[in-house]
Amino acid sequence: MAKKKEIVPVKLRKLRTNYELRFDYLPILTTYIKTLPKEHRSVRIDNVLDVNGGTRDEWVRIIREVQIGNVISFMVDNSIPFVFENLLPEELNGLRLEYLERQKRVAEALKAKEDTLVFDDMDFSFMKIQPYDYQKQAVKFFEINQGKAILGDQPGVGKTLPPITYAAKHKLKTLVICPASLKLNWRKEVINFSNEKAHVFKYTPSKRSKNKNYSKEESLFHIINYESIQSYIKLEYKHKCNGNVIVPGKGMQKCGTEITDLNKKHKKCEMCKNTNSFKSRISGLVYIEDKDGSFIDPEDYDMIVIDEFHRIKSVKTDWTQIIKKAFRDTVDKRILISGTAIKSRPMEFFSGLNFMDPEMWNSSHDFGLRYCAAYETNFGWDYSGASNLEELFTRISPYFLRRLKKDVLSQLPDKTYTEIEIELTPTERKEYEKLLKEMKKVIGEGGSEEEKEQSYLEKIHKLKQFTGNVKLNRLISDGIVSDISSNGDKLVVMSDYQILAETLYKEYKDLAVIHTGSMNQEEKQSSVEKFQEDKNICLFSGMIGASGVGITLTEASKLIFLGFAWTPGDMLQAEDRIHRATTTHDNIQIITYICIDTIDELIRDLLNQKENVVSKVLDGKIIKKDITSSDSSIIKQLINNLKSY
Ligand SMILES: [Zn+2]
Repeated sequence: MAKKKEIVPVKLRKLRTNYELRFDYLPILTTYIKTLPKEHRSVRIDNVLDVNGGTRDEWVRIIREVQIGNVISFMVDNSIPFVFENLLPEELNGLRLEYLERQKRVAEALKAKEDTLVFDDMDFSFMKIQPYDYQKQAVKFFEINQGKAILGDQPGVGKTLPPITYAAKHKLKTLVICPASLKLNWRKEVINFSNEKAHVFKYTPSKRSKNKNYSKEESLFHIINYESIQSYIKLEYKHKCNGNVIVPGKGMQKCGTEITDLNKKHKKCEMCKNTNSFKSRISGLVYIEDKDGSFIDPEDYDMIVIDEFHRIKSVKTDWTQIIKKAFRDTVDKRILISGTAIKSRPMEFFSGLNFMDPEMWNSSHDFGLRYCAAYETNFGWDYSGASNLEELFTRISPYFLRRLKKDVLSQLPDKTYTEIEIELTPTERKEYEKLLKEMKKVIGEGGSEEEKEQSYLEKIHKLKQFTGNVKLNRLISDGIVSDISSNGDKLVVMSDYQILAETLYKEYKDLAVIHTGSMNQEEKQSSVEKFQEDKNICLFSGMIGASGVGITLTEASKLIFLGFAWTPGDMLQAEDRIHRATTTHDNIQIITYICIDTIDELIRDLLNQKENVVSKVLDGKIIKKDITSSDSSIIKQLINNLKSY
C-alpha cells in the first residue's frame, strides 16, 4: 500500500537581485505564483543530477524581491514547509512583515477610496483659504499613502492645492517640478492659499514688479521647471575608447582611453585618432551652482511634486534621467500629478510609476508587453497601444486618485478664472525692452497730439504682438493642445492678432480649425461645425473680436485668452461662446495668459478697473452703448501709464 506522500519543503535561495524557489510539482503554489504580475516572476529549467547518476530537468521559479514577502506569506498561511539556504530567519521575517505592511496600506487606501475619503478627523485651519472638499479628500489620500501617490484628476479639477496643503500641514520642504508656464501659477497658489512662501528658481521679477521672489531659506516651497533642472544638475558620462592601436612590438591593442565629463558623446579619440570609438554611459550626476550661488541639493527636500508628470515618460530625455537619479532614492515623499487619462496611452505612465514605486514597476519592456499591447516592428518595439487595462487599474488603484469633473461639479462654480503668469526669458526681455525704448522715443518727437497718439498706438500694438507671440510659444512648447486631445477635451484659444491665430492653427492643423475676420461666412460656419461635431478636432483658433458673436462653441471645456480686448465686454462675449445655459460642460475654465512685467499687466489692471465700472453701470441700468464709446479712454490711459512706466 502506498504511503501518503510527504511534501518536500520548498527550497528558497537569494540570488543577486531576485529569489529562487525550487520545489517539486506543487499545484497550489504554482497557481498562486501565476497570479503575480508577470514582470515579477519567471521560470528557469535547471539540469540536475539524479540519485542514480542520470540527469533530469528541474523547474525553478524566480521571484522578484518585491513579491517574495508575498510568496512567503502565502506559504506560511497555507502550511507549505520551506527551507532557506542563504537567508537568516529574521531577514525572511522582515520580508514578510514588509509585505504585510504594504498590504495593510493598500487595503486602507482602497477602503478609504470606497468611503469617499472622509476627512472629518483632519484639521485644515492652517490654510489661509480653505480648499474644496474634494481637495481635502486628496490630502487625506496622501496621508494614507504616506506621501507617495498619483493625483490624476481630470483637467479642470484643481490639482495644485492638495499637495500644497499636504506639505503645509506637515511643514515638508517641497520641490515642485512643473512646465515653465505653470511655475508662477504654483507660486501664486502657495502664497494665496497657504501661509507659506515660495521660491522660484531663475526668477527675477523686475524692480517695477509687485512680485517678490522669496529666498530659498524662508520658503517651504521651491519651484523649478523641467528645462531649468539641467542647469543645476547635469548628467556625467564615462567614455571608454574601444579603438584599435598598433603598439610597436605588441601588435594590435585596444586603446582603452577613459574620459569622464558632461559630454554625451565624443566623436574622435585624441589618443588613437579613431572616430566613433567611444562607448559612453551615464556614470553619475554633477551638481552645479548658478552664478547667484543658488543650487539644488536633493537631500534638502522632504517631498517632491512632479506636475504633468507624463513629461518624464521618455528615458531619452535628460531631465527624466536627472529627476530619477537625483530624487528617487533620496526624497521619501513623491507626489505625481497629471490629468492625462491613463487609458489613452498607458506607456506614458510607466516612468512615473517607476519613479514612485520602483520595486513594483521595474521593467518598462514587461510593462509594455502587458499593458501597452507591445509588438515588434522593423524600427523596434511599439508601445503605443493599450491592453489589460482592468488589471492595470487594479494594480495602481491603491495610490492613484482620479476624479472626473462631473464628480466634483457640485463643488465648482460655473466658470473658473485662472491667470497664468508667464515670465520672459532673458533674450525675450532684452527684445521687449528695446521695443519699449522705441515707444518712449515718441515722447520727444514733434507733431500734433493726434499724430503722437497714432504713433503711440502703433508701438503699443508692437508690444502687444510681442507678448502675444511669447504666450503662443509657451502654449505650444508646453504641449497644452496634446494634453487636451489625449483627454478627449476641446479647447478654444482666442488671440487678438490674426497672425497669432494663424500660427497656432498651422501648428496643429490636423487637430484644429481656424476662425478669423478675413474668412468668408461659409468658411467660418464650417469651422464652427467641425469644432462642435468632429471628434478629431480639439482646437478652435479664433479671434477675440471676430469670433465673439453669434457662434456656439459649447463643446469646449477650456478657453485660453492669448490677448485682450479693449473692452471687458468683448472678452465676456467670447466666454459666452463656450458657456451657455445649455452647455454640456457645467464648469468651464477661462484662462488668461499674462506676460508679467510687461504691457500685459497694465492692460489687465486697466480692464479690471473698467470691469468694475461696467458692472456698476449695468446695475445702474445705463445702456451698453455708452460703455463701448469709452474705448479710446483705455488707450489714452494706457499711453499715460506707459509714459511713466
Ligand atoms: Zn582611443
